[in-house]
Amino acid sequence: MPTINLLSREISELIAAGEVIERPSSVIKELIENSIDAGSRHITVEIKRGGSTFIRITDDGCGIAFDDVPKAFLRHATSKITTKDDLNSILTLGFRGEALASVCAVSKTEIITKQAEDELGTHYIIEGSDEVLHERTGCPDGTTIIIRDLFYNVPARQKFMKKDSVEGNMVCGIVNKIALSHPEIAFKLLRDNKLEFSTSGDGKLYSAVFAVYGKAFAGDMIPVEYEQDGIKIHGFTVKPLYSRANRTFQNFFVNSRYVKSQVCASALEEAYKGTVMTGKFPACILMIDIAPDVVDVNVHPAKVEIRFSDDRPVYDCMFFAVKSALMKAGLVYDFQLKQQTIAETSQETYIQPKLPETAPKQEKQDMIPEVPETEKNQGRFAEKNIALTTQSSPVVSYSSPAPVKAPEVPETKEPAEETTYTSLPPCTEDKYRTEGNTASENYIREIRKEIKEETETENTDNSSDNSSEVFPEEDSLTSKYSFINSNDLKKKDPEVTPDPVLEKPKLKYIGEAFKGYIIAEAEEKIIIMDKHAAHERIIFEKLKSEDRDPASQLVLCPEGVLLSLDEAHALEENTKVLENMGFKLDFANSPYISVKAIPTIIAHLNMDEIIPELADNFRKNMRDPRPEAIDDILHTIACKAAIKMNDSNNDTELSKLAEEVYFNDRIRHCPHGRPVMFVISKYELEKQFRRKV
Ligand code: ADP
Ligand code: MG
Repeated sequence: MPTINLLSREISELIAAGEVIERPSSVIKELIENSIDAGSRHITVEIKRGGSTFIRITDDGCGIAFDDVPKAFLRHATSKITTKDDLNSILTLGFRGEALASVCAVSKTEIITKQAEDELGTHYIIEGSDEVLHERTGCPDGTTIIIRDLFYNVPARQKFMKKDSVEGNMVCGIVNKIALSHPEIAFKLLRDNKLEFSTSGDGKLYSAVFAVYGKAFAGDMIPVEYEQDGIKIHGFTVKPLYSRANRTFQNFFVNSRYVKSQVCASALEEAYKGTVMTGKFPACILMIDIAPDVVDVNVHPAKVEIRFSDDRPVYDCMFFAVKSALMKAGLVYDFQLKQQTIAETSQETYIQPKLPETAPKQEKQDMIPEVPETEKNQGRFAEKNIALTTQSSPVVSYSSPAPVKAPEVPETKEPAEETTYTSLPPCTEDKYRTEGNTASENYIREIRKEIKEETETENTDNSSDNSSEVFPEEDSLTSKYSFINSNDLKKKDPEVTPDPVLEKPKLKYIGEAFKGYIIAEAEEKIIIMDKHAAHERIIFEKLKSEDRDPASQLVLCPEGVLLSLDEAHALEENTKVLENMGFKLDFANSPYISVKAIPTIIAHLNMDEIIPELADNFRKNMRDPRPEAIDDILHTIACKAAIKMNDSNNDTELSKLAEEVYFNDRIRHCPHGRPVMFVISKYELEKQFRRKV
C-alpha cells in the first residue's frame, strides 16, 4: 500500500503558483491589477528579456503598511473581501489573495512600498516564499515591486517559456489591453529600456486608443454609446472595411476588466454581418458596464473568459449598440450582393451545366461588394465612393461605375465523352495523368473536387458582362497589368525565357471567349486558356522566384498599417523572405508597420489588406515555416493581383499573356492546381470533322 504524505509547504506553494502564474505576462497582469486596485494614477511597467529576468512595476497607489507586507505574500491574504457577501459585489480586479503568494513562490521578489500617512516605507525581499529582508526604508508613496528570475526554481516551467521576443509581445499585449481599460490611469511600458508606449491618463478612451493603436486606427473608429436592460456599452468599433484577418483587435471590457467573451464577439460579428468579408473580423474597443452580480466572478483569475448569468441581454445590447453605431455612421446596410460571377458559374457549369440563378444566393450575402479594380487603385476604397442605402431591399451601387448586373452565361457543356483534350506534353506537374484514364478525365475529376473546396475560399471578382457600364477605360486597365507591357517582357524571368538557340514557335492569338478564355493557335494546336488562372500563376512564379531581384517599387508616401504585436513580430522575423518577394517594411514604429516598397506586380493592390493577410499567415506558420506556408501566402497575393474573369482586357494584353504562359512549360496549372489551359490538336479537330479517321 502506498503511504499518503502531506506535501511540504514548498511543493504545495509551487503547485498552487503554477495555476496562477504561467508566464511573465500573467505575473504582470496580476501586478498591474493590484496597482489599479490600490487606486494608482500612474503605473509604469518595465521588463527585460521578455520579463523572464526582470519585471518592475511602479505605482503611486495606497501602498501597504509595514506589518501587512509579509501577510500580503501569504496565500488567501487579501484586503479586498472580508465576508462572503462581498463576493457578490466584487468590483476590484483581484480578490483571491493568491497573486503575490504565487509570484513570490517562483521568483526572487522585492517590494518597496509606503502609505501616504506613514513617514517611512517598507523594504521587503522574499525568494521562493522565504523571507530574506523586512525593514523600514525611506521611499516615495506607492509601491514598487520587482520580480527577478521568474521560475528560477521551477526548471520544468522555464522550458515552456517561449523566446524572449514572444514573451515580450505577450506582455505588451496585456499591458495594451489594461491601458485601454483604464484611460484614467497613465500607463508607461518600457521594454529592454525602450519606451513601447505611454498613455496620458486623461480619462478619455479615445486618447488611450490613440496611444496604444496609433493615429490611423483611431481615425477609423466609430463611437458606440448604448444602454439597454441596465447594461451600458460604450467605446469604439471600426469602419467595416477596416476589419482584420483575426480577432486580435477585438477588445471587450466588462466593468473595466479585459475579458474574452464568445457572447460579445458573436453579437459584434452579427452586427457587422454583410459588411465584412467572410474570414475577416471587425476590431473594437468596447466597455460593458453591467451589475456585478450577473457576472460570474468565480472564474479562475488567470483566465480571461467571462460568464454571464444570462447571455441574452448582453448579446442583444451588444448587437444593437454596434448595429446602431454603424447605422448612425451610415455604414451598415443590407445589400443585394453581386450576382453570381462568370467565374463562379463557369465553375458550376463545369460540374453541372446550368444557367446561373438570377437571384443572389442567401449565403453569399456575407460577402463584401466587389469594387472594380480601378476604384481600389485609389487607395482603400473609400466609403464615400459607395452609395449605401439602408432601406429594405437596396442594391449597393457605386458612384462610378454603374451597378453590377448578372452576367449572361452561355450554356457550357462538359466535354463530350468521345472528345479527348490532351494536356500539353512537357508538363512536370501533370499529376492528373494516371493509367487507364485520359488526362482530361482525371483533370475533371480532380478539378471538381478542388473547385468545391476552393469556392469556399477563393474570392472571384467582377460580375457583369456589360463592359461599357462596368469597366473603366482600357488604358487604365492596361497600365495596371504592367507585367504585360513590353518592357516587362524584355526583362523576363530567366526561367520563363525559352532557349534562345531554338527557334521559337509562333503563337497566333485568335480571340477571347466569354470574357475569360483566351483562344490561340500554335504548333498545330488550338489553345484555350483561363486568363485569370494563367495570370495568377505567372504572378505566383514571379513572386516565388527568390533567386532573382524581385521587381520592387518604392512607395512614395509610405503607407502605415497597424498590426497586432504578434503579427508585426512574425513579419519582422521574416524580413528576408519578404525582401525576396519585393516587400520592404519599416518596423521602427512596430506594430505600426510602414510599407516602403512593394512588389511591382501588386502595386495596384491595397496594402491595408495585403499586409495584415501576409502577417496573419506568417504568424500562424511562425513555428513551422514550411515552404507550402509561404506558397499559400503567395497564392493569396497572386490571386488578388491577377486579372479576373469578366475584366476587359485588350487583345495585345491577352496575346502577350498567352505567349508568356504557353512558352513556359512550368505553367500548366494555376497555383490552386486548376488547369491553366487545354489544347485541342489539329489532328483531333480533323478527326471530329471526319477528315481523318
Ligand atoms: P488580491 O489582489 O487577490 O487581494 P494579491 O496576492 O494580489 O491578492 O495581493 C494581496 C494584497 O496585497 C492585496 O489584497 C492588497 O491589499 C496588497 N497589495 C498588493 N499589491 C499592492 C499594491 N501595488 N499596492 C497596494 N497594495 C497592494
Ligand atoms: Mg491581486
